[in-house]
Amino acid sequence: MEKTIIKDTLNRPLRDLRISVIDRCNLRCQYCMPADKFGPDFEFLPKSALLTYEEIERVSKIFVKLGVEKIRLTGGEPLLRRDMPILVKKLSEIDGLRDIGLTTNGILLEKYALDLKNAGLKRVNVSLDSLNDELFGKINGRNIGTKPVLDGIKKAREVGLGVKINMVVKRGLNDSEIIPMAEYCKNNGLQLRFIEFMDVGSTNGWKMDDVITKKQIYDMLKEHYELEALDPAYFGEVAKLYRYKDTDVDVGFISSVSESFCSSCTRARLSANGQIFTCLFNGNGHDIRNVMRNGATDEQLAERISGIWGDRNDRYSDERTAEANLNRKKIEMSYIGG
Ligand code: SAM
Ligand code: SF4
Ligand code: SF4
Repeated sequence: MEKTIIKDTLNRPLRDLRISVIDRCNLRCQYCMPADKFGPDFEFLPKSALLTYEEIERVSKIFVKLGVEKIRLTGGEPLLRRDMPILVKKLSEIDGLRDIGLTTNGILLEKYALDLKNAGLKRVNVSLDSLNDELFGKINGRNIGTKPVLDGIKKAREVGLGVKINMVVKRGLNDSEIIPMAEYCKNNGLQLRFIEFMDVGSTNGWKMDDVITKKQIYDMLKEHYELEALDPAYFGEVAKLYRYKDTDVDVGFISSVSESFCSSCTRARLSANGQIFTCLFNGNGHDIRNVMRNGATDEQLAERISGIWGDRNDRYSDERTAEANLNRKKIEMSYIGG
């Protein structure tokens, strides 16, 4: 397939697309959708505002022609959207797309793993911040224990999906779980990625003091394990990976706060209602849903996307400490996905 490679103002190509398929979630993780801010009266997007699967497929095909090689489905909780395997199937048939992944909290994974695998999904990232039921229930704001997530992970592996685990670490909340999670994942051959608590959105009360940095977590791990650094597998790989010595198990860090990686950021994000965001921390989306619904041709859509990417100059994490940046309008993580 003929691809046109487009680059932004900092010479970064467009390679990845993260698609949020829904803004709702069955959990209320403190660091993402705190229950007191996302209560029963919170107004989520109406169904008519969400991109249909046909619209997502159409936009994805255009993104692939413009260089995208990987698509990640996320949310909100993507498995709350009805018939996700149908969307996965549509996307898996796109010529030129190398990889499709899904990020989920795992609660509904046991139910859908086989259908997702049969639809063409290769990999899932499952979020799990603690193995302690009580603490996990407190973090997820719904008092749900770890069992459904662990069952989901088990099922996903049984049906042949690749599984990685994401753990957001927040000081004073789940730092005590760093070593138990590392041990569990190592013993079960699962890649665990520690994610630094980020200042996404404006509802999670982020403070720098709450961040446990990659270096701090690494130092804790080093007290228990011998680790060997691995080279990045490709340009723009987000996680920095290490291997437990004498094993084939890796552990990674997503250090967006302490060691930013904007210079190799090749990701565009598409919100559930069809807005393109060029950075996790850029509050200004570019509508594409209405453009599509008003009858734009594929060529016109491609031109619009190329223009948006061509104008991109985001490097928020590189500039995080600037006062103006900390106070700027930001979009919620649940709205555009991780
Ligand atoms: N609901 C799905 C899940 O939790 O995996 C997908 C959406 S969630 C927004 C995507 C990822 O973002 C999850 O791994 C989650 O832990 C992470 N995340 C959410 N808020 C975060 C924050 N403030 N800092 C760092 N990571 C965050
Ligand atoms: Fe839901 Fe995922 Fe956000 Fe937790 S991190 S509230 S599971 S969207
Ligand atoms: Fe990419 Fe923005 Fe994150 Fe930098 S801050 S890595 S530009 S999403």
